[in-house]
Amino acid sequence: MSFTIQNALIPVESGYETADVQVADNCISAIAQNLAPTETAIDGKNKLLLPGFVNAHTHSSEMWQRGIIPPLPLELWIGELYDFTPLDPEQVYLSALGTAVETLLSGGTSVVDHLVLIPGQELETIAAAVRAYQEIGIRAFIGPLIQDESLTAGMPAGEGGIEHAAYIRSTNATLELMEAAIKQFHYPEKGVNILLAPTGIQLCSDALFEGCIDLGDRYNLCLHAHLLETPAQKQLAREKYGCSAVEHLQQIGYLSPRTSLAHCVWLDDSDIAIMAETQSTVVHNPLSNLRLGSGIAPILKYRKAGVNVSFGCDGAASNDSQDLLEAIKMGSILHNITDLDYRHWITPRQSVEMASLGGAKGLNLGDKMGSLTVGKKADLVLYDLTSLSLLPRTDPIGLLILGRPTNTVDSVWVNGKQIVAEGKVKTIDVDGLRRQLFDRSEWSSKRQSPMVGEIESHYRQVMKLPLGG
Ligand SMILES: [Zn+2]
Repeated sequence: MSFTIQNALIPVESGYETADVQVADNCISAIAQNLAPTETAIDGKNKLLLPGFVNAHTHSSEMWQRGIIPPLPLELWIGELYDFTPLDPEQVYLSALGTAVETLLSGGTSVVDHLVLIPGQELETIAAAVRAYQEIGIRAFIGPLIQDESLTAGMPAGEGGIEHAAYIRSTNATLELMEAAIKQFHYPEKGVNILLAPTGIQLCSDALFEGCIDLGDRYNLCLHAHLLETPAQKQLAREKYGCSAVEHLQQIGYLSPRTSLAHCVWLDDSDIAIMAETQSTVVHNPLSNLRLGSGIAPILKYRKAGVNVSFGCDGAASNDSQDLLEAIKMGSILHNITDLDYRHWITPRQSVEMASLGGAKGLNLGDKMGSLTVGKKADLVLYDLTSLSLLPRTDPIGLLILGRPTNTVDSVWVNGKQIVAEGKVKTIDVDGLRRQLFDRSEWSSKRQSPMVGEIESHYRQVMKLPLGG
């Protein structure tokens, strides 16, 4: 299969050029003016062609709870999330489709799904997400979310300490489950990749991290985790290891060019140096960090230190959307308030590079995707520059990143296959998906989370917040 996108606007060093982009065998085969047309010609006139972005951290099944969790910090928010988590693999399938649609229609061609597993139906959960991503055709990186400590272990113990229930599954059983998932679902050539993704230091033992490193080495897979999302986690790391979480992860060998870490809000300068030295990737989730009050990640410092940074939406229950362009905008301009020297601020073109090539690098695929380069995978997005939100005509990338683009994605290709055409997803029945999401849910505004009730006073105590009331 081959096709030519004709007369598209593409960014070049000096500004923009109008060019033809040819795709053959799933890859970009030529970029030049007036190329001889191949089998199919696509009209790229008045459209901007960019490499697809990576939604580099999300949890698809959180879609069922978007908009309902009250303003709470992560440690309490997660109690409510777990109390009402979907328990039917069919729901996982539908929310994976929903996550993919929103990602595709906001410029993404790859999604990293840190997938919450239904207890007792772990492989069925992964199968449901795989089915969704294969049907729609987005490039998927599924990191089954694993842990081996129970939820209360995620908070600092403080002086009084806190009792933890045993986790539902042993560390070894979890690692066996991951190996089964790899054997069953890891098919990069079909666009489905498995990542090893322990949830983070707050709920995982060293044995679990080390088992993941071992599996990653044996099957050549990438590693993923949350890292120092909240001030409570920073405090917990000190209690747990007597050093910073980053120092500890480096000591056990978890940090590498194949490792991407979500949030990275509470790292200090020596931690940042370790991130640079190990060539680990930071996944920036600005909207989630604001929504949960987690903090502002030191993104300008990462960039200055040479740390690769990409963007994620994070799960829809802490965002509460999957609009990648919104996350990119917020994650770019948010940092202007952290540094008076405007020469360090992120430019729209840098944002595009972080979202595309930065995302690819974080998945150890920087040489295979993430830029408009001959030989790279044809994961491409064509934006309609005649859309009202991108008018009047000024700098197309400036409009896309700094503006509020609505319905601007005209076409999307993943691995050379067209998924979106004329602004519509072509591979699945989106109206049918809307009906299913509607029918399987109901309007509600009040619900009571038993777990939040149980853990709130301990949280307030260790975080030195006023008790009572
Ligand atoms: Zn997350």
